[in-house]
Amino acid sequence: MKVLTTIADFRRAHATLGSASLGFVPTMGFLHDGHLEMIGRARAENDGVAVSIFVNPLQFAPTDDLEAYPRDFERDRSLLEQAGCDLLFHPDVVEIYPDGADLDVTVVPNRIASILEGASRPVHFTGVATVVAKLFNIVQAERAYFGQKDGQQVAVIKRMVRDLDIPVEIVVVPTIREDDGLAMSSRNSYLNAEQRAAAPVVFRALSSASDLFAAGGRHADSLRETMRGVLEAEPLANVDYVSIADNETLEEIIGIIDRDAMASLAVQIGPARLIDNLVLAAHRQPGL
Ligand code: AMP
Repeated sequence: MKVLTTIADFRRAHATLGSASLGFVPTMGFLHDGHLEMIGRARAENDGVAVSIFVNPLQFAPTDDLEAYPRDFERDRSLLEQAGCDLLFHPDVVEIYPDGADLDVTVVPNRIASILEGASRPVHFTGVATVVAKLFNIVQAERAYFGQKDGQQVAVIKRMVRDLDIPVEIVVVPTIREDDGLAMSSRNSYLNAEQRAAAPVVFRALSSASDLFAAGGRHADSLRETMRGVLEAEPLANVDYVSIADNETLEEIIGIIDRDAMASLAVQIGPARLIDNLVLAAHRQPGL
């Protein structure tokens, strides 16, 4: 595995790799099994694999956890070596933003970034879309891998690729969970024992909606109420939003669910803002 810290070095290493196809997994590091699952998929579907580790300041608001965000580069490096990564891109902030964060040109996703996560974190998706567009231009991969865990991020990136004709295929990888259902996340490390014990309420709430849906429940309001009820029974959970939305546009569904939907939510538990989602497929094939 080659570790590259500059754009020029990455481009040279990519050129000498000689891989017919490159799969790319962008991350912020502090890797867990969710990341490794994506790297495994990228390994299986491409000749070469590139991973980036970059904690992107542009997607954090001043009140967010940029400074506290967990980092362990040496551990990440050895996990990536074992996982069969070929190129590890690990730039510092100045390499990506040589003029500082005050960019003249950014990629601004519109309506899709103003709702759900975007309502609570107004600058977040501009930061995400801008850095992902830059990384796509640097890495020049055939395929890029994103986790369903960040469902709105998937929707924003797919939309960006479509609207800006970026020549990369977006592959979405299912959410990897702990045994008790908690979605793996680098931010889970913020939870103390008591908060960690409360955190599976997130998956229980989503499961209550998907169980109701599987039993034929199609009223979006009832699903939202079910999720909210489960969350509110947990004193440590502060609900930001619960949502039943169109799986592609993420517009909130009013009335009957007649298309693929995403049940999603955000809660604050102690210092951690936890987000998660489940896709509700309107037209399941019989037997699946
Ligand atoms: P992060 O390092 O948290 O920015 O995440 C990098 C990528 O890993 C994103 O595409 C995430 O959606 C994905 N990811 C994070 N957690 C999980 C998980 N538990 N299962 C699957 N993918 C995940």
